[in-house]
Amino acid sequence: MPLKTLPEYERRAEAAHGHLCAGQILGLRMALYGVQLLGLQDPAGADRKRLVTYVEIDRCATDAIPVVTGCRLGKRALKFRDFGKVAATFCDLCDQRAVRLVARESSKQRARELYPGIADKNQQQMRAYRELADEELFEKQWVRVHIGPEDLPGYKAARVVCAECGEGINFKREVLREGRALCRACAGERYYEPL
Ligand SMILES: [Zn+2]
Ligand SMILES: [Zn+2]
Repeated sequence: MPLKTLPEYERRAEAAHGHLCAGQILGLRMALYGVQLLGLQDPAGADRKRLVTYVEIDRCATDAIPVVTGCRLGKRALKFRDFGKVAATFCDLCDQRAVRLVARESSKQRARELYPGIADKNQQQMRAYRELADEELFEKQWVRVHIGPEDLPGYKAARVVCAECGEGINFKREVLREGRALCRACAGERYYEPL
């Protein structure tokens, strides 16, 4: 499934996300730019095993990225780092290179300048985000990302059982405390309180 046109991706993104919005278009453009910079012709098909994407926000744009890249959380090819930024890093595991793209702060302003006559902000931005050049929408940075073997898709290792709660832990996420293997919750990172 080689790269498709933006309107085709928009149809798919709308179906996946529930609506089409400026954030979705920005996410699609970001992913398309990312895979093109890496030179991947068929990210969701023939090239799917070589791509890992890190996203830095849980908003609309993030949902659009897998539509282009095929990188999904459940396949371990989509990584979430909650930095609150409309940014993503596209890593080519084959060529060992990665590019990080950040949506420019100026993109909303550019949309206002381009289409002052469109009162609806979402419509104004959707139109502009379809048309603006990649360089106007995103700042680009070539980076190095160290991905440990335990974070790669396809990693296999024995499960460990938490010495405190007895729950199974995969992918080396256990923490060693005084010779005991604990899950991250029991080691102090629990985000919930048992009632
Ligand atoms: Zn949305
Ligand atoms: Zn535990």
